[in-house]
Amino acid sequence: MSEMIYKHISLPKLNNLQPNIESTCLKLMEEAGELAQAVGKFRGLNGEAVEITDSEIVEMLSSELLDVAQVAVSMMFVLEEKYNINIDECVDEHVAKLIRKGYIALKE
Ligand SMILES: [Mg+2]
Repeated sequence: MSEMIYKHISLPKLNNLQPNIESTCLKLMEEAGELAQAVGKFRGLNGEAVEITDSEIVEMLSSELLDVAQVAVSMMFVLEEKYNINIDECVDEHVAKLIRKGYIALKE
């Protein structure tokens, strides 16, 4: 079986907030919007004269993408701590789903 390639990232639990499902979900949408805005800049879709370089925009994209990931992780902590969800088990089911849908091909 071919080896699956993983990206491992570790993001901290934010200990100075009282997040819940609604607040983290709304924040996730907000951060996704900021990511989309950065993509718009990158593609010159916003109609503004582009005053920053592609590499500056790509750095902005990376930063906004990590904001999205951070909020997703914060929501995972909420699900684990308040709703008894085991995210590790969910990850196994998630990967199985990706394989079942054909997004990951397992070759000999
Ligand atoms: Mg952001």
